[in-house]
Amino acid sequence: MMPITTEPTILRGGEWLLQGSSADGVFTPERLTDEHRLIAQTAQEFVDNEVLPKLDQLEQKDWALARHLVKRGGDLGLLGVDVPEAYGGVGLDKVTSLVVSEKMARSASFGATFGAHANLTIVPIVLFGTEAQKQKYLPGLLSGEVLGAYGLSESGSGSDALGARTKATRQADGSFLLNGEKMWITNGGFADLFVIFAKVDGDQFTALLVERGWGVKSGKEEHKMGLHGSSTTALIFQDVKVPAENVLSEVGKGHKVAFNVLNFARFKLGAMCSGGAQAAIAESAKYAAARRQFGQPIASFGAIKHKIGEMVVRTYAIESLLYRTAGLVDARIAATPHEASDGSAALAAFEEYNVESSIAKVAGSEALNYVLDENIQIHGGNGYVRDYPAERHYRDARVNRIFEGTNEINRLLIPGMLIRRALKGDLPLIPAAKALQDELLGPPSMPSSDDGVLADERRAVDAFKKTALMIFGLAMQTYGQKLTDEQEVLMHLADITIDVFSAESAMLRAQAAVEAKAQRSALHTDAARVFVSDAGMRIEASARQALAAMVDGDTLRTMLAALRRLLKVTPVNTVAARRRLADAAVGQGGYPLA
Ligand SMILES: Cc1cc2nc3c(=O)[nH]c(=O)nc-3n(C[C@H](O)[C@H](O)[C@H](O)COP(=O)(O)OP(=O)(O)OC[C@H]3O[C@@H](n4cnc5c(N)ncnc54)[C@H](O)[C@@H]3O)c2cc1C
Repeated sequence: MMPITTEPTILRGGEWLLQGSSADGVFTPERLTDEHRLIAQTAQEFVDNEVLPKLDQLEQKDWALARHLVKRGGDLGLLGVDVPEAYGGVGLDKVTSLVVSEKMARSASFGATFGAHANLTIVPIVLFGTEAQKQKYLPGLLSGEVLGAYGLSESGSGSDALGARTKATRQADGSFLLNGEKMWITNGGFADLFVIFAKVDGDQFTALLVERGWGVKSGKEEHKMGLHGSSTTALIFQDVKVPAENVLSEVGKGHKVAFNVLNFARFKLGAMCSGGAQAAIAESAKYAAARRQFGQPIASFGAIKHKIGEMVVRTYAIESLLYRTAGLVDARIAATPHEASDGSAALAAFEEYNVESSIAKVAGSEALNYVLDENIQIHGGNGYVRDYPAERHYRDARVNRIFEGTNEINRLLIPGMLIRRALKGDLPLIPAAKALQDELLGPPSMPSSDDGVLADERRAVDAFKKTALMIFGLAMQTYGQKLTDEQEVLMHLADITIDVFSAESAMLRAQAAVEAKAQRSALHTDAARVFVSDAGMRIEASARQALAAMVDGDTLRTMLAALRRLLKVTPVNTVAARRRLADAAVGQGGYPLA
């Protein structure tokens, strides 16, 4: 077995791939404090009572209402969760950001409005703003009087964000003249303040704070597949004069702003997906209990139980990895000496856990897509018509795989960032891969004698990590610098890495629940067992394909034999476990592990 380390105090970003973790130190939803629960309840009541009843009005593009709702969020302190008290925020931890995002998600359109304002406008100012910028802009943004938006994408540069063509030309007095056009900007139709990325003097990618009053024009509302209750427009700049003091961070450092803000936003997007999935499970569970066919509720059919059970399993895994990551980020911030008003510790922490943020984004958006697709299926014809919310959720969620960096870009980033750290010597991935190679060539080792809670799953996760190391090691050895050209192999590596983190997070949370004798610990173990069991099959499929792409003949046969030896995982009765999870969801009328 790999050595076990207690977290969240010790592990650095990506280190979980190289060692085991103890369930004691992992943050889980069961470890929320009363303060966390109180703010979650505030956010939930706000969405239930003030946002959801107004969804149709928002979908009619009533932007005065959207503004009013953001202001209400400000009154309740929900806009200032990530803002230090010194600047008028509530200065709470990242677990709080996570619970608020989860609750806001139940209205996807308003969640997008809220996210563009709070996560993509307020957060960059907190992290990168000068004292004067913070004093000038944060009070209005926090009260919701001033609405924010974030303009990075252009018609010619989406994934390739640094290829932006919007220009900021320096004037003799130090100010800039902004010219160009941004595309698909959330809150674009009504925001007052924009974080805009432009090239200064031809090639210096720079973030600027731009007020609408200086001449920013909005394009028409886009006709979107979903999120009809959120504004998405182009932004047009024609000789918009931006004062010198409105550079956010420094000229030429726009990439730092953009990428760090995205690290944070991706994590929150994962949280929103988790919240959306939990809400959809409630819809499915209630519908399946009420809808009768062949003289019985459809919830009694095994095929439906499978779907609801699997919805719970996937949601459990993303929820587990999100809370674990939030715990790591908070521990890192707490361990970094800093003034409460200083955002640099949070900035460094999100940079440290950028792999985990990308995992949260990809795993969260794909789990949500699965859940919402099955939600429609469980609703049958009613899932396809507008009388039920299932079809709206399905349309609204699709964009989660596209914005905040597409899932392809995030998949490339996951192994890419791990390998970069390994090459810099920050993550001992290369020696670990070499040690594994020796282990695999040597005589078979005795299986561990661990017979504690979820011991088989712990052994399986250990094997998943070794599989990941085997593929990482071989890929680096085979392609060297050219690995970046081998996107298919990188995608397999990303999928394996995502499953390792998800499976281990679910397993550790379930173990913690059993050890704490939590009320529903049997359901926790069911969810973790099913996830680990299926992750094993996915990991094996990815690893086989990656191996066959890299080696052939006897080498391939030897490596496949090593893979089989590693992944000798006894299957569990996932049918029975999913049935129990589905019955619990239907019995409770909602996500049973909340
Ligand atoms: C509703 C909505 C709201 C949005 N809100 C905002 C906002 O508030 N602010 C903002 O700045 N932007 C926003 N966007 C834009 C969004 O961030 C971009 O659409 C996204 O980054 C993808 O860029 P693109 O559309 O140009 O796709 P492209 O970059 O053209 O990608 C097309 C396809 O090619 C793939 N691809 C691209 N490059 C690579 C590569 N190197 N390797 C492999 N595959 C690749 C992509 O993964 C994708 O599958 C929003 C978009 C939508 C739809």
